[in-house]
Amino acid sequence: MATSKHATRPMSGDLFTERNFWAQFFQDLKKVKERLIILSPFVAVRRSSALMNYFQSMRDRGIEIKIITRPINQQTGKMAEQAEIVIEQLRRMGCKVLEKRSMHQKVAIIDTAIFWEGSLNILSHQDSGEQMRRFEGKNSVEEIIKDLELEEDIPVGAQTEEKCPGSTLSPNCKGYLVVRTKYNRKFYGCSNYPRCDYTRSFDGSPRRRKR
Ligand SMILES: [Zn+2]
Repeated sequence: MATSKHATRPMSGDLFTERNFWAQFFQDLKKVKERLIILSPFVAVRRSSALMNYFQSMRDRGIEIKIITRPINQQTGKMAEQAEIVIEQLRRMGCKVLEKRSMHQKVAIIDTAIFWEGSLNILSHQDSGEQMRRFEGKNSVEEIIKDLELEEDIPVGAQTEEKCPGSTLSPNCKGYLVVRTKYNRKFYGCSNYPRCDYTRSFDGSPRRRKR
């Protein structure tokens, strides 16, 4: 196969364990030019505070930071309290935090240059035995962004900060509105579904429901 000197470096896919992941990851963070995206199902203060300084200095340089994690009500027990604090802190810093129900991917994407993927929760890591693979190259980054639907502003499953106003089934619902889809149309539903069946279309009108 002919090789071109303009060809991008092939995907390396080097495997890292938690023992050498952080050193390399922090190296990568120093090189961010435009955008950092992190997908971490859980967030916890302890790990995140180590990253906060990096995030703050990136925000000072005008770098876009997008974080996708599970909604607070899906982060259990003590974790949930921590998650609330961290998410609040990140938002105040100007990071875009998207709460996506049941998300499970552990990924970090640095510009269009590098991405990490594996089993380590970057924003809450504390277990042992986790692994991450590091890939380089514009094509592979563009591919994973497409795969994970990261270009969409309001992807299906995203939980908003808007509280559910309640429904007949659950008048005092304490849920949040979540983006759902049916027949390829997006609408807002309640995070407590099926206990609460509140829905609303994107333009504000109630969805027609079968009687
Ligand atoms: Zn509800």
